[in-house]
Amino acid sequence: ALARGDAEDDAGGSKAAHFVFVPLREQGHLIPAVDTALLLATHGAVCTIAATPATAVLVRPAVDSARRSGLQVRLAEFPLDYAAAGLPEGVDDGDSIPPMHMWNYFRAMALLRAPIESYLRAHAPFPTCVVSDFIHPWTTELAANLGVPRLSFFSMCTFGLLCQHNLERFHAWDGVEDPNEPVVVPGLERRFVVTRAQVPGFFRGIPIPCWEEFADYVERAQAEADGVIVNTFEEMEAEYVAGYAAARRMKVWTVGPVSTYHQSRTTLASTLAARGLRESAIDPEECRRWLDGKPRGSVVYVSFGSISRADAKQAVELGLGLEASGHPFVWAVRDADGYDEAARGFLRELEARVAGRGLLVRGWAPQLLILSHDAVGGFVTHCGWNSTLEAVAAGLPVVTWPHFTDQFLNEKMAVEVLGIGVSVGVTEPLTYQAVPKEIVVGRGVVEAAVRSVMGGGEEAEERRRRARALAAKARAAAQPGGSSHGNLLDLVKRFQPPGAAVPEV
Ligand code: UDP
Repeated sequence: ALARGDAEDDAGGSKAAHFVFVPLREQGHLIPAVDTALLLATHGAVCTIAATPATAVLVRPAVDSARRSGLQVRLAEFPLDYAAAGLPEGVDDGDSIPPMHMWNYFRAMALLRAPIESYLRAHAPFPTCVVSDFIHPWTTELAANLGVPRLSFFSMCTFGLLCQHNLERFHAWDGVEDPNEPVVVPGLERRFVVTRAQVPGFFRGIPIPCWEEFADYVERAQAEADGVIVNTFEEMEAEYVAGYAAARRMKVWTVGPVSTYHQSRTTLASTLAARGLRESAIDPEECRRWLDGKPRGSVVYVSFGSISRADAKQAVELGLGLEASGHPFVWAVRDADGYDEAARGFLRELEARVAGRGLLVRGWAPQLLILSHDAVGGFVTHCGWNSTLEAVAAGLPVVTWPHFTDQFLNEKMAVEVLGIGVSVGVTEPLTYQAVPKEIVVGRGVVEAAVRSVMGGGEEAEERRRRARALAAKARAAAQPGGSSHGNLLDLVKRFQPPGAAVPEV
């Protein structure tokens, strides 16, 4: 298959660091990886984003806009060989890869190693570093063949990374039969209690043998990486950044919050909305106008990210809880068309009852635009790391409602480490379960959690103060002289081609 790319029209750049990004297509991985590439490019690096055609469709507008403003970012497209990997054509066109195709999708991605390598050899400047989503272990071979270092990319907190790493390296799950048995995370000064069901480890605990092997492969690739780039910032979790670097014996570059790339450049509604890489289901201007009409800090925003959804029963309880809370809300309802008629009818009636006070976005919401609006005062989140960090950057307290993967650890980060969250009390994964349990958070719990985060009282005020203080630190980290800014400059300097003049920083 032939690769298509932007490289032909880029002149020079051979004295600059050249990062090749190999992101994962899921929005929670793709959005921060693209932001990081753009940030590195603002500091003079050349960045190539290697993408499949379906991913490239999402990334193209951001890259084109960056190129127009003079950044050396290129997008190179590599078609997936659906047939060779046993995948249905177009399986990667939707919001996320359906779980039953995940395995073959990873196989198909791994088959891109040779085409990516040939492309990079054919298009100067030669890369100086591969930045791979940690989920693509095959990039170890790509980097080795090219003779360049490989950094793995995480949009996770280092607190979560360290917890997971410690649970694995200290064999915390040995002999633990019950997946819901509480266990203390080993090797940390503070006491954090988790269950295996909440933190099984990347790709662990899936009752299909190939995944266990894949999990080992991912772990090996991580152990062999030349460093990690993490979308977090030093001042929020210095102890865990240092702890993870020491445990892995590798350099950790914290570069977040990477969403500040957009916020520092624009206040345009359309541009902020475009950061989500998908067209939003509501006109961004209309959304902004709706928020403009609400008092400062009065609106609660609700979203479960790009993969998880509330099932029909849960949607009804959530809607009733929001209504009962009395607070204005914007609710991003993912997959609303997939609900049965009863739930769809419920949403229509709710909308009519709360007209002017509640805004339902059926589909993709312009999240960064919403969170950065002054009218928003809290966020009911599934604790995807991007959403959590976006809340931090916006200075917002959160209601935490984890669904799966690292989200339980991110909840601990928000509630126990940072003190900016109130949990709805979900203790078991809700998404991607082989045998899904019916866990429904009742309307009363939703109402109480929202009231607690949005309301008055010393505790709520204290939470808000902490959130605002964190946001100030996040902004400082991203500005010249700040830790994340400095780490980006360090990356650009350190991965310059040999013999290049050291730039002034
Ligand atoms: N997002 C968005 N609009 C939506 C849902 C999500 O812009 O309707 C963005 C959100 O701002 C975040 C990313 O998609 O940057 C989701 O990542 P996260 O880690 O929060 O959760 P995931 O989707 O991976 O579960």
